[in-house]
Formats: sequence, C-alpha cells, structure tokens
Amino acid sequence: MRAIDMPTIDHRGPTFQDLGKRVLAGIRTIFKTKNPVLIYPASGTGAWEAALVNTLSPGDLCLMYETGHFATLWKKLAERLGLRTEFIEGDWRHGADAKAIGERLQADTNHEIKAVCVVHNETSTGCVSPIKAVREAIGAAGHPALLLVDTISSLASIDYRHDEWGVDVTVGGSQKGLMLPPGLSFNAVSDKALKAQESAKLPRSYWAWDEMLAANENGFFTYTPATNLLYGLDAAIEMLHAEGLENVFARHQRHGAATRAAVEAWGLEVLCAEPTHHSGSLTAVLMPDRKGADALRKIILDRFDMSLGAGLSKVADQIFRIGHLGDFNDLTLVGTLGGVEMGLKAAGVAHKSGGVDAAMAVLGDTETASYRQAAE
Ligand SMILES: *Cc1c(COP(=O)(O)O)cnc(C)c1O
Repeated sequence: MRAIDMPTIDHRGPTFQDLGKRVLAGIRTIFKTKNPVLIYPASGTGAWEAALVNTLSPGDLCLMYETGHFATLWKKLAERLGLRTEFIEGDWRHGADAKAIGERLQADTNHEIKAVCVVHNETSTGCVSPIKAVREAIGAAGHPALLLVDTISSLASIDYRHDEWGVDVTVGGSQKGLMLPPGLSFNAVSDKALKAQESAKLPRSYWAWDEMLAANENGFFTYTPATNLLYGLDAAIEMLHAEGLENVFARHQRHGAATRAAVEAWGLEVLCAEPTHHSGSLTAVLMPDRKGADALRKIILDRFDMSLGAGLSKVADQIFRIGHLGDFNDLTLVGTLGGVEMGLKAAGVAHKSGGVDAAMAVLGDTETASYRQAAE
C-alpha cells in the first residue's frame, strides 16, 4: 500500500521503462517461466478471456472440469465467446481428476478438443487440482490440446510451475496471493500458445498478445498500464523473494493444516474430501445439516467485523470459507479461528470447543513446518 501511494508517472518515460522492465522480468519468476508474461489492467476474468481469444477459433471445443463455481464461470465465459464446451462433472469436493481427462482425450481420436481448461485452486471449494498429473494425462493420450490453467487464487500461495509442468497459458490475478488490490491480471504463455496465436481466429484487440508483447520487450505497454498497481507489484515480488517462494508455500500449507485441525476439533467437516487436494489458500467448512452458513457469517461480521467467504451457487448457505492466503501469519490465523469459534457459539451451531487449541498445537509444532505440496 505504501508503494502504491505515489504520484503516477509518465508511462512513456524512462523512469517507467525501468519499472516496466523490472516487473515484466520479476513476474516470470513468480509463474516460474522463462517466457513472457502479459500484464493486463483488469480483474482475473479479463485474463480468462485473454487466454481463450488469443489461442482459439470460433466453435473450437474446450474440455473443462467442474471443480466448482469458478470453473463454471470460466465455462460460461467461453460459451459467450462462441466456443463449444464440454464439462467433466465434479462433486465440488475434489480437484480435477487427471485420469478422467486422459480418458476423454483418448476417446477424442479426431482431436476435436482444442483446449483443456482447469482451475488450479478452486476458490469456491478449497480443492487443488493436480496440474502436473493433468499435463501427463494429456501427454499419455498423445493429444495436441492446449492446457490452460487458472491460478488466480493459488499463484504465490501454492506451489506452481508454468514451464516445468508444461502449461500453455496460466491465468493469474493481483488481489489474492500477490497481496495487491484488485486490478491486475496475467497470462503466462508457452511457445506452443504463442504459435497457436498465429492461427487463432477469435476476434481480439484489447486482449491481443502480439502488439503488447512487442511493446513489453522495451518495458512499455501499448495502452495506459495500471501504473500504481505496478509499483505495488514490484514491491510484492520483492517481498515474496525476501521470504522465499518455497517458504511462502510452506507457510500456507501449515495454515491450511492448522485450520483443518480446528475444523476437526469443532466436530465439523472440511468440504474438500481428498486430502491430497487440500488447499493452502483457503478452507471451506460444511455446516451441520448443510444449512445456516449465512446466518453464522452475519453474526461473525456484526460482532467481530470479520468477513468469511460465502458458499457460492451449488453450496450457497451450506458452507463458509476461511481464507488463509497472501499476507497472513500464525497470529492472524489464530485470531481468525478465534472469531469463527466464538461465532459458532453465538450462532448456536452444534460444535465442540477447542478448535483454536488444536490449531495452536499445529502452529506451535516446529516439526510440522514443512508439508508435502498438494499441488503435485
Ligand atoms: C477470484 C477468482 C476468479 C475471478 O477473478 P476476478 O478478479 O474476480 O475477475 C477466477 N478464478 C478464481 C480461481 C478465483 O479465485
């Protein structure tokens, strides 16, 4: 916030050029790519659209996986652009099933499917999809489809490797793990995605990669960038590397584990039913009898000024979500869980006390400081 609170400079001048070069290089280290990353003055949804219009043509078929609300929105967006979509249905309690994707691709002998779209961290459920396994399934099927991945709520919070995992377009946003206000979003691209761009026929202008990439080579943007957010991005990248990305990921894994320990002690259930898919970014909690989450959220907001995530669409009022991504530490987590535990009591929700104690036991145990990365 301090970095952003500065006069806006001329985005065609030399001072900006230094900043532009620095953030355009720095953001590659966060996506773990040697290729260019496009930076849009837009919310994450804009970068979803950019990923599709730059690589696909009208009527192309996208295989998408129903991990939850955000996957459903991305599918809707694709359809509004004139793409055909196919959903592999999910139960909103698991990440994507790489095997099911592989089997569908194997059956697609005419290679009608042009892209596989997967949400890495499904923010509506707290389930992480195994992106490396999805890529391997595409490879094992010998299928040429592009792999497009939404990392809006996992980038800089959960282990992610654009190049190593062979992702073609990675979509990111500023307001979650990057700790910035909303207003920036990203496309990390592969060589294969850049090649696809040459023949992709969906109309695009504002989102087009070609002219922007040419301007970016010199540190500039074709239209006015969100200059002040770029000051913030510069600071955020520095903060992430000062802590060390691996340490950042481990911190979020610990906070996820401590939160799950609290939920278990309360006698409640975590929505994500597959332990290897548990998220370091957030934990979704099922209400007893799957109702009353919004009344609980209201009591916690009114009494403690703490806003918990709501259940979205299919799980509305059935769950609440505890965010533990971004600029978050052990004590903010203990405070958060204390607010939830007091709220459960105030709202008369059937539960056992001792959740905060269980979380503190996890946080206090230095042996638990490193966790296996669920993302693989
Ligand atoms: C927040 C979020 C989005 C939507 O991003 P906007 O910035 O609101 O456009 C998309 N996907 C995921 C996984 C998200 O968490």
